[in-house]
Amino acid sequence: MALIVQKFGGTSVGSIERIEQVAEKVKRFRERGDDIVVVVSAMSGETNRLIDLAKQVSDQPVPRELDVMVSTGEQVTIALLAMALIKRDVPAVSYTGSQVRILTDSAHTKARILQIDDQRLRADLKAGRVVVVAGFQGVDEQGNITTLGRGGSDTTGVALAAALKADECQIYTDVDGVYTTDPRVVSQARRLTKITFEEMLEMASLGSKVLQIRAVEFAGKYNVPLRVLHSFQEGPGTLITLDEEESMEQPIISGIAFNRDEAKLTIRGVPDTPGVAFKILGPISAANIEVDMIVQNVANDNTTDFTFTVHRNDYLGAQQVLERTAQEIGAREVSGDTKIAKVSIVGVGMRSHAGVASRMFEALAKESINIQMISTSEIKVSVVIEEKYLELAVRALHTAFELDTPAHQGE
Ligand code: ADP
Ligand code: ASP
Ligand code: MG
Repeated sequence: MALIVQKFGGTSVGSIERIEQVAEKVKRFRERGDDIVVVVSAMSGETNRLIDLAKQVSDQPVPRELDVMVSTGEQVTIALLAMALIKRDVPAVSYTGSQVRILTDSAHTKARILQIDDQRLRADLKAGRVVVVAGFQGVDEQGNITTLGRGGSDTTGVALAAALKADECQIYTDVDGVYTTDPRVVSQARRLTKITFEEMLEMASLGSKVLQIRAVEFAGKYNVPLRVLHSFQEGPGTLITLDEEESMEQPIISGIAFNRDEAKLTIRGVPDTPGVAFKILGPISAANIEVDMIVQNVANDNTTDFTFTVHRNDYLGAQQVLERTAQEIGAREVSGDTKIAKVSIVGVGMRSHAGVASRMFEALAKESINIQMISTSEIKVSVVIEEKYLELAVRALHTAFELDTPAHQGE
């Protein structure tokens, strides 16, 4: 008998019909004799609707109160799913994050799980009940409701699987696995049978929202067997694995990730003296703004241009800070661009192959796509380009690195 944690995302519980279908599926697993813990998201669109409501009252809602509100989305679906199971004579019980006691820190809207009390869950499983837990939420030491950041139900699923030492954590969603790139953007994208934790971590952090990054971190750290599957179609899905050996046989690049979440800021004509990077980025970091990519160019006249990217939500804040810095250090001007996109190629195979970056640049050059910034690490190369070329770039790279489904190759 296995213990399985199954997480169903927003579209999979997006209507009463789908919740009934999920109940049928859970029932089938139960009948095989497995112990099941189910984690559900809010119905699709619900979290956005709740956030919009809050924004109608306040531009910047107090994070504690926002968490009280957005956590209600998941409270609805756990109850509905428990009802649908009980109706089918499957004993079931639902719990919110705080009822389980999923203890988190107090960083409202992006809290981290610190500890999970598994006693209540284990007692229910022992009594033959399916346990349905609200994703995305927890409670801090003071009893305040917290949430784990967008997509956080994935992390609830993996964390519960780790705490319960489950045999597998299954992430059910609206695609049948992890693809070489977002299948909604590139129709030739291929499902991967396996991907390493390391690669999945890069894909998630570079923009593939199929798994929340913290879920992948957690799974890697506690060695939780993790699989992404389609909620309503049979199939093996994609296994996230520690095993790098086998994926070495695979192509150099495992996947392509992208995001439109960043904006670029440039400060020009900065006197080129030691400590200049610190003078520019120190105040940005003091304002609690995270910087992603950084480029510094030196001009002939002993001045330098300095460009960096931040999350688009932080763009205006960062611009204000930078204007102030520019005045202080006597820089010529500050400019910015929010219409950029970051495209990244990811693969552990890069470690053993040279020339991957230049192959990427060649493919983009052939499409006349200008590269504005570049950053690399051991298993990824990222470039910033104009946002309007994003889809073209992803498709071109998908073909150049021979990731297209065989039927489409050479088209
Ligand atoms: P859920 O609501 O089930 O959590 P999400 O919308 O968060 O679902 O994640 C699933 C979506 O992730 C897919 O519909 C797909 O468009 C997107 N996605 C992005 N990159 C990938 C990828 N490499 N493989 C599969 N899906 C991806
Ligand atoms: N409902 C939350 C969100 O939309 C959490 C999740 O779906 O994972 O972000
Ligand atoms: Mg998700």
